[in-house]
Amino acid sequence: MSSASCMVLRRMFSKEVIPATKKKTVDALKVDFEDRLNICSKCDRSTKIVQGFPTFCKECGCAIQAKAFFEHLHCPLKKW
Ligand code: SF4
Repeated sequence: MSSASCMVLRRMFSKEVIPATKKKTVDALKVDFEDRLNICSKCDRSTKIVQGFPTFCKECGCAIQAKAFFEHLHCPLKKW
C-alpha cells in the first residue's frame, strides 16, 4: 500500500470516524456496508474488483471498503 493510501486511511479513522461508528449496531453497519459495496461494484468510477469487491474510487481516491463502512462518509457522486 502506498504512503498516500495510508494517509487516506489514517484520515478516515481519525477522531471523527471512530465516534460515528458507536451510533449503530454491528448488524446495521453490515447492511449499509454491503449495500454500498454493491453500488460501488457496479459503478464505472470504481477500480478493479478483488475477490468480488471494488478497491478504490477514482472519483475521490478513497479505499472503498474502508469508506463504505462508516455511516457519515458518502459517495462523492451521491449514489449512497
Ligand atoms: S464511492 Fe460513489 S463514485 Fe466512488 S465508486 Fe462508489 S459509487 Fe462510484
